[in-house]
Amino acid sequence: MSLIVMKFGGSSVADTDKIKFVAKKIIAKKKEGNKIVVVVSAPGNTTDDLLTMVTKITSRPQLREMDVLLATGEMVSIALLSIAIDAMGEKVISMTGPQAGIFADMTYTQARVKSIDSRKIKKQILDDKIVVIAGFQAFNSKRDITTLGRGGSDLTAVVLAATLNADLCEIYSDVDGVYTADPRVVTDAKKIAYVSYDEMLEMAGSGAQILQTRSVEIAKKFNIEVHSKNTFNESKGTVITSKEKIRRSNMETPLVSGVTFSKDNVKFTIVDLPDTPGLAAKIFSRLANINVNVDIIQSVIVNKKNNISFTVDKQDTEKTDLELNKISHEFKSASIVYDDCVAKVSIIGIGMKSNPSIAAKMFEILNNEGINIEIISTSEIKISCIINRLDMLKAVKALHKGFGFSVDNR
Ligand code: ASP
Ligand code: MG
Repeated sequence: MSLIVMKFGGSSVADTDKIKFVAKKIIAKKKEGNKIVVVVSAPGNTTDDLLTMVTKITSRPQLREMDVLLATGEMVSIALLSIAIDAMGEKVISMTGPQAGIFADMTYTQARVKSIDSRKIKKQILDDKIVVIAGFQAFNSKRDITTLGRGGSDLTAVVLAATLNADLCEIYSDVDGVYTADPRVVTDAKKIAYVSYDEMLEMAGSGAQILQTRSVEIAKKFNIEVHSKNTFNESKGTVITSKEKIRRSNMETPLVSGVTFSKDNVKFTIVDLPDTPGLAAKIFSRLANINVNVDIIQSVIVNKKNNISFTVDKQDTEKTDLELNKISHEFKSASIVYDDCVAKVSIIGIGMKSNPSIAAKMFEILNNEGINIEIISTSEIKISCIINRLDMLKAVKALHKGFGFSVDNR
């Protein structure tokens, strides 16, 4: 008998027909002889809709009250799903995050799980019940309800799988799994059968929105194998696991696993800084002090003048601009150039680590399309290029084709 955590995303519980469908699916898994813990997100776009309602009232809501509001979405899901399972004759109990014993720190809207008192869940499992738990929510030491950041139901599923020592953690959504590229953009994108935690983390950071990043970090930390599957079909999905396991279970790992893109960045360049030591330290520590997340950095020295370009999250544009203007005043000659028509395209793969020709191939593919590369950044398993946003889709398609994702060979 296995203990399985099944998590269903918002689109899987968007209406009552879907809820009934999901209820049947859960019961079928139970009848195979498994113990089942279910985690659900809020129905459809509920969370977004709630957020929009707030913006119509104020731009500065109390974060504590935001959490009270946002937590209601998942409560609708657990209640309706439990009602459906019960109506089909199966033993079931719903639990909010606090009832399930999920205890978090004092941060509102971005709370971090600190511990789980799983006694209540375990008791219900022993009672042979399906336990349906609200994702995305917890309680803190003030007994306030809090939420775990957008996409936080994935995190709930993974931390529960770790705490309960589950045999399997399944994350169901309306996509078949992780693809070699976003299938909405690249029509012949292939589903990947196995992907390592590190690749998944890079993919999340590079724009692929399959699993919440923090949930992948926790899965990696506790070595929880996560299966990403489609609620509405029986296809095999993608297994997110350790690279050791992928190496053991596969003949050969492709050099490149996927192509990703993101257009959430803007580029700043500080032109004509003096070429003196300590400048980069100064600039980036000041940006860090105001919580600006700097992504890719390039520093070029020409004729004893230093030009530093870097990208930041689009939402940090204003803060960054203000701070850079202050900095440029301190160095009279320097000026700031801002560019919001940029995008990042990346190739990712644990197989590229010891293969320098991959980078050259990427640049060649982009060059053949006449695409100019503005900044390059590399890590052990990723190469990213900042390019003009207008070239983004062309770049993604060309890279996908150029790296030959015609067969799913893993
Ligand atoms: N309902 C929350 C959100 O939309 C949590 C989740 O879906 O995982 O972010
Ligand atoms: Mg979601």
